[in-house]
Amino acid sequence: VIHAIDVGYLGLERAALAFLIGPKRAPVLVECGTAACRAQLCAGLEAAGVTTSVRALFLTHVHLDHAGGAGHVAATGADVYVHPEGARHLVDPTKLAASSRRVHGDLYDRFYGDPLPIRAEQVHAVADGSIVERDGVRAMAIATPGHAKHHHAWLVRETSDDGRPTGPSFLFTGDVASMIVPGSRFLSVPTPPPDLDVDAWRASLERLERLVQSIQAGELPAWGTDVDLVLTHGGRRDDPLRHLRLARRRLDEEIAFFEAHLERSAGTEEILDRWSAWIRPLAIAEGVDLRSAARFLGPTFCRMNLEGIRRWRDRRSAEGGPAGRA
Ligand SMILES: [Zn+2]
Repeated sequence: VIHAIDVGYLGLERAALAFLIGPKRAPVLVECGTAACRAQLCAGLEAAGVTTSVRALFLTHVHLDHAGGAGHVAATGADVYVHPEGARHLVDPTKLAASSRRVHGDLYDRFYGDPLPIRAEQVHAVADGSIVERDGVRAMAIATPGHAKHHHAWLVRETSDDGRPTGPSFLFTGDVASMIVPGSRFLSVPTPPPDLDVDAWRASLERLERLVQSIQAGELPAWGTDVDLVLTHGGRRDDPLRHLRLARRRLDEEIAFFEAHLERSAGTEEILDRWSAWIRPLAIAEGVDLRSAARFLGPTFCRMNLEGIRRWRDRRSAEGGPAGRA
């Protein structure tokens, strides 16, 4: 059983979640929200009946809405498991905090807050394909770069006291399967700087699709035949293949939109206006209300996405890739 905790990110309901798994006497978390979400996270753990400190924390990547509170969780003794490229940013979060402040501007102090450093002994860099077993949980790291180079999805299954796996498997997708705007069905695609890599992202989604197919076909008996996706922004999805294909389509749509405008050298303000005119009716048709649209699909979000895509194209053209030939 997994238990979703609303960490109150951006002051909105269910904008980001942390997930409690494993036995209550040895709680394990996947994701933890920002440092500013700390009180909501603690309240959520308490409401779920947890009375002891968290033993282990799995992070999909080190962006602050997923990992900003990790130092606070680690301060109570938890071990933290993360992609090798993310590990050093947990030990010394200075660069991470500065880059987040740049991207989020005024919102940083209110909704993010400074992460605490974590002692190196508590930070465990987990390589692609490695399995971590502890406290009633088996977790396999699936490197899924694209949204960020330090991104893992975690395939997780609970284990009984004798170590046997039990129940369905859960595939925690962080941001690789994008995010559902709270209260709606709309899939919003975050393409932030600095290391967005769209080609890697597409390959990661295909990799997850093949993984889900293999599990469903019974080819990976240790993981059963039943797997749900779990989105940090959106929660549990019991239609994994359908969702992964939708995520792939939405990624392609967003990239095509920005690339078309960048190729004809449109200015930033024009792109922001046109993006908003394009995305808002789509989002509203999928149930997004105006308040969520303002926060989730407003100019700050669009600017972040544009900047991510611009830098990815610049890097590609410096390397002589397709954008360079265009
Ligand atoms: Zn996120």
